[in-house]
Amino acid sequence: MSKEIYLDGNATTCVLPAAIDAAVQAMRDCFGNPSSTHATGLKAKAMMDIVRQRAKRLLGVGSGRIMFNSGATEGIQTAVLSALCALRERRDSGEATGSLLVYGATEHKAVPEALAHWNRLLGLGLELKKLPVDADGRHDLAALRALAPQAAFVCTMAANNETGVVSDLVGIGATLAASKALWMVDCVQGLGKLPLDLGNTRIDYAPFSGHKLYAPKGIGMLYVREGAPYTPLVMGGGQEAGLRSGTENMAGIAALGAVLAALEEGGTFRPPAELYGFRDKLAASLRAALPGIVFNAPFDKALPTTLNFSVPGLSSKELLDVFDAANVRVSAGSACSAAKAAPSYVLDAMGLPAWRSSSAVRMSFGPLASEEIIIEACARIERCGQALRAAGLLDVPAATAANAPEGVLQLSLAGNHTWLLLDAPSRQCVVIDHQEELGERIDSLLRSHGYQVAARVSTHDGAAAGDSIVFGAHTVRHVTLEAHQHAYLLCRGDKVDYAFTGLAPWSALAGRIPDDALVCAGREELNACCTSLRAEEIGGALGVDLNLDSIALARLLEAHPQAVLVDVREVYEQAACIPGGRAAQSVPLSRLAAFVPGWLDAAEQPPLVFFCRSGNRSAKAAQCLRRLGYRNAYSLGGGIALASAALALAA
Ligand code: PLP
Repeated sequence: MSKEIYLDGNATTCVLPAAIDAAVQAMRDCFGNPSSTHATGLKAKAMMDIVRQRAKRLLGVGSGRIMFNSGATEGIQTAVLSALCALRERRDSGEATGSLLVYGATEHKAVPEALAHWNRLLGLGLELKKLPVDADGRHDLAALRALAPQAAFVCTMAANNETGVVSDLVGIGATLAASKALWMVDCVQGLGKLPLDLGNTRIDYAPFSGHKLYAPKGIGMLYVREGAPYTPLVMGGGQEAGLRSGTENMAGIAALGAVLAALEEGGTFRPPAELYGFRDKLAASLRAALPGIVFNAPFDKALPTTLNFSVPGLSSKELLDVFDAANVRVSAGSACSAAKAAPSYVLDAMGLPAWRSSSAVRMSFGPLASEEIIIEACARIERCGQALRAAGLLDVPAATAANAPEGVLQLSLAGNHTWLLLDAPSRQCVVIDHQEELGERIDSLLRSHGYQVAARVSTHDGAAAGDSIVFGAHTVRHVTLEAHQHAYLLCRGDKVDYAFTGLAPWSALAGRIPDDALVCAGREELNACCTSLRAEEIGGALGVDLNLDSIALARLLEAHPQAVLVDVREVYEQAACIPGGRAAQSVPLSRLAAFVPGWLDAAEQPPLVFFCRSGNRSAKAAQCLRRLGYRNAYSLGGGIALASAALALAA
């Protein structure tokens, strides 16, 4: 396996070696409770005080306070609770407070969720108001100016986690100058990346999380301006001057201290000029590898460490999969499930077209990145581009892609399947249930492999189909099942090999096809890949022993050396992969149905161990085979990530 390149620094970072050492030292040599008055406790307290002083200097907090806590989500709760309790008191004493809880449209979910939660719990009944952002992702100051007289509490961020867009905090501060509203700035993505001089601003609260800048998870800080209202979220033993009870996370504080020391002393983290250079290199490789790529945030208004982009015709899942196969970790710029990517509310708020918002990818690194890593990342990005090109997923000149697919191929979108029936010798193709949104993808795939469309047919509307279509050595026969339910039978001579249906129940096919013909449905929920009438009758519990962990895999491979490993990732993922480990048969899940008859008809049925990136697709493949009677089918649970050692061992 090639070395992992981690480009998801906005989600979390690795831990700085000096921070690990500091945490270990705190646990081993400085384990005291800082509230104890004996020497062991005093030593621990001294360490904590040093870290606090360092944080105060670095953030320029002046007479404000820095409190240690578990991270930004806690800091946000504390700030929201403090502001809302103060507003309730002011209102109860007859003071005019404003009625709006204003938050930036691109805030991290923790902010609106905390506002809604505490507003409800405290029975305040204030109105949550989203502050729009402009096309660059910056807060709309004119809108803020209009809301300011009504605003009771304003929440904005220093830099956005999805796009890296840096807020105009000076402009926001000036807009709020005459307002009595309290102001929280989520500084999570700004720590170590933006100059912060909190004491010289009108910001009341600023939460931070250590793990976004090379400290461990579970340690954070909250800045509170001197004189800003405060209500503890956690009461108990009176730690942190009674403002945040609970024995302090001393290992976390020590580790955070090492990161702050590195920031203050310099020499560890890359200066901004180098980070801009890294971004330029990554952007150039992305542009070369992924034609048509668009960047979703203006570079001149964003942190150099975040790139957010979309590529026409490619979903974020496909891009994530191909990067993951090349051992480059990036994340979807939007919440993404296997079948459907939810659009990003951040990009939606910037007014980007839906395709960009739902297919965005975020590539982010931290100021510890090295030139060597960036150069290797660029090489892998180029490899991913080649893999996508060879698979015909990027626009490439006609018939230049390698390994033309043949047989049946499934393309899915939002749970709906389009099936392509491909006859390689004649380069003829029949499309069943074409989906408009997949049009570009299908055209590019067919064009790059030199296929012509012989016919397009629909399982909801059989009228256009005619009775049968002959293409290459195959015939596709049309059968009407019931009103608006049609099936298409792919035959060689009189033999029906496959039946394609939309939503019709399997029973509608009874008597029309042999019970071992493969049935391919139009919807995801009907079956994983393909089934047969016989399989549907047998049904039963098929999950027993289906998932192998790495130990079970090693045992199985030892007991059955003839077992076949089957890689069900798509061809572009396989091509992006840097080879190593035991050889595997390549059968992308989209082409499983084309391979099933060969496995079922073989005289020998060796164990088939399917694997993929995470274990989801391989479980589908193994289940499909078991239902069809191939009992020796398994899936590598947890995917390659968890079983790479076992796969390499088995080589
Ligand atoms: N705010 C921003 C901008 C973030 O990026 C995150 C984490 O993703 C948070 C808040 C929440 O931080 P944590 O999960 O460390 O509490």
